[in-house]
Amino acid sequence: MYWNTADEIMAADPELAIIPVGSIEQHGPHMPVMTDWAVASELGKRVQAKLGGFLLPALPVSTCREQMGKKGAVWMEPPTFYNMMCDIVLSLKEQGFKKVLILQCHGGIFIMTPIVRDLNAKYNPDLMVALFDPIAIWPRLCREGITEDTAELHAGEGETSMMLAIAPETVHMDRAVDFVPDVPRNYLNYGGVLRHCPAGVWGRATLGAADKGERMLARTAEIAAEEAEKAFAFMRAKEKLNYSSF
Ligand SMILES: [Zn+2]
Repeated sequence: MYWNTADEIMAADPELAIIPVGSIEQHGPHMPVMTDWAVASELGKRVQAKLGGFLLPALPVSTCREQMGKKGAVWMEPPTFYNMMCDIVLSLKEQGFKKVLILQCHGGIFIMTPIVRDLNAKYNPDLMVALFDPIAIWPRLCREGITEDTAELHAGEGETSMMLAIAPETVHMDRAVDFVPDVPRNYLNYGGVLRHCPAGVWGRATLGAADKGERMLARTAEIAAEEAEKAFAFMRAKEKLNYSSF
């Protein structure tokens, strides 16, 4: 992990590296701009506790032009992010890491899929990259009774709950609002979040609670570890298809 010495990492010689990725962007009137990064940092520790491996510090900045409108968002252009992630992953590969798990804790990184697909297509089976997107399991957490709102996309019940569990002193529940716009998610291709949700909340933030957040984090870490193991096992078991190892 990032608090170990290099000699300790050498001795443990892990084949797995875990890269949590956050974002710095508006999270409604009630939560700090560090929200995605704080969730990524926490989830990274919990997933590392289950899988072992070399945990990197969560990357704070990614792509978030869909959050433009208020000050405090920080982004890079998608091609820059693509190149940065490939460089990071290949630096790990050069040191003998064979498996990389990316925990994508910000929904707006639409360049992430090409990164994962290209790296696997080029480097399987020597390097295997798994991607876990916690937002994709929010409907499942609802079905399991951990959360109530199925409409959340940003700064709603789930994210508010997790931040109440991680850093309650940074959450201002007296300013929390509920708002679900009348457009589907793909309208983020046509205009930013603040255009559809004037307060910057897409979901029901007033449903946030620390105990829900704790259960969400625990369950998300569990599912992330399971899904990563499955993805690595699948990639490892692939036979060569003529010239292709992908
Ligand atoms: Zn967020």
